Amino acid sequence: MKVLKFGGTSVGSAERMHALVDLVVNMEAKIVVLSAMSGTTNALVEIADKLYSKDTAQANELISKLEEKYVVEVKRLYKTEAALQKGLNLIRYHFDYLRAFTLDMFTANEEKAVLAQGELLSTAMFHYYLSEINVESVLLPALNFMRIDENDEPDLEYIERHITEELNKYPGTSLFITQGYICRNSFGEIDNLKRGGSDYTASLIGAAIYAPEVQIWTDIDGMHNNDPRVVDKTHPIHELTFDEAAELAYFGAKILHPTCILPAQKRNIPVKLLNTMQPEAKGTTISDKASGSGIKAVAAKDGITAINIKSGRMLLAHGFLRSVFEIFERYKTPIDMITTSEVAVSLTIDNSKYLQEICKELEEFSDVTVDQNQTIICIVGDFGSETKGCALKVLEAMKTIPIRMISYGGSPFNVSLLVKGELKKASLVALNKGLFNY
Ligand code: ADP
Ligand code: ASP
Ligand code: MG
Repeated sequence: MKVLKFGGTSVGSAERMHALVDLVVNMEAKIVVLSAMSGTTNALVEIADKLYSKDTAQANELISKLEEKYVVEVKRLYKTEAALQKGLNLIRYHFDYLRAFTLDMFTANEEKAVLAQGELLSTAMFHYYLSEINVESVLLPALNFMRIDENDEPDLEYIERHITEELNKYPGTSLFITQGYICRNSFGEIDNLKRGGSDYTASLIGAAIYAPEVQIWTDIDGMHNNDPRVVDKTHPIHELTFDEAAELAYFGAKILHPTCILPAQKRNIPVKLLNTMQPEAKGTTISDKASGSGIKAVAAKDGITAINIKSGRMLLAHGFLRSVFEIFERYKTPIDMITTSEVAVSLTIDNSKYLQEICKELEEFSDVTVDQNQTIICIVGDFGSETKGCALKVLEAMKTIPIRMISYGGSPFNVSLLVKGELKKASLVALNKGLFNY
């Protein structure tokens, strides 16, 4: 069975849901993973914020505003009175559930339950619509099989066992619908796979059922060579390797959740990125096949903190890096980029939750300086077969922009640069010109 994921804009209105039918209803058996309708998760985040701060009036107002939007869509989604009533009851149920939180205490657990409502709504609405037009489908509750462990990592073994159990309940069924993004944690509470996590759900399900293909349907015709939100001219890249796509996703290409390529890669399942507004477009195929050489794309990741650690002890000292890394490990803080010189090491982190604690420990044996609001610019391609000149092209393109760090050679498919956050746009524009002639 293939796995098809449709993002927020692809289910963002009654019209979009009507249009989905042509893409999902055919002879092929499939699992369809849906996101919340676009804007919903952002609205739920805002509602949760108000509930946290006990701003009940504002929370109620936001809940009613979102509910009105859903009522409008539901009225346009269904034609028969029976389906409309079912849809309106569904909405009432979920919005009454949200309103109940204004009367009760609100903690991180309740917040996760609030954030889950978007995907629960969109999947049930679409499932009811299929039933209204006499298309048979089964709604699989993701909360019955999607699970993260105590480190917040997906538990693939658990997912595999439980989704198989669920699927086996419905022999002969060829169309399953399920929620992206939502899951349970190791305590069995409702949780999620972080923002943009529906892509991750699709890849995890693909891996769990050994799917022949995972398709990520969105609002653009595949992975582009540069961030279309930042630069004017970009083009789609038709083929990427898993490694290249994983780098781009991790370093800011929003079209893919940062870690969603890994489960598919683990089981060598091709991932296609396709456009719901233009289904005939070729999109991007991500697989293990080598696909051309040279520089293919750039992406940028904001909100990075750079830490410079300088120590006399580094000179000729073995074990220095180990003592540095141990500190980051203790605070469960991953390091993204690292560069070294004889007397100092610079590294970057994305999660600065424990920055103070980490710096305090580093200061016990070194001088530490911190630069916040940095951006990693990641340039991806196959540099192995065209080693000559790639770095030069990148640096030539960036010649007017000050670079804080350069990381090259960690893998044959990535060069990363660190620049000040305010230089992100200038960097992406310069690279678009220098590397892609735009
Ligand atoms: P969905 O709601 O379908 O998950 P997203 O908004 O998460 O869609 O991802 C699609 C968006 O990603 C595109 O509209 C585009 O603006 C943005 N994006 C950022 N970088 C890239 C890139 N390199 N290629 C394609 N899209 C990108
Ligand atoms: N609805 C979730 C979000 O907006 C998950 C997703 O769309 O992938 O982050
Ligand atoms: Mg997304």
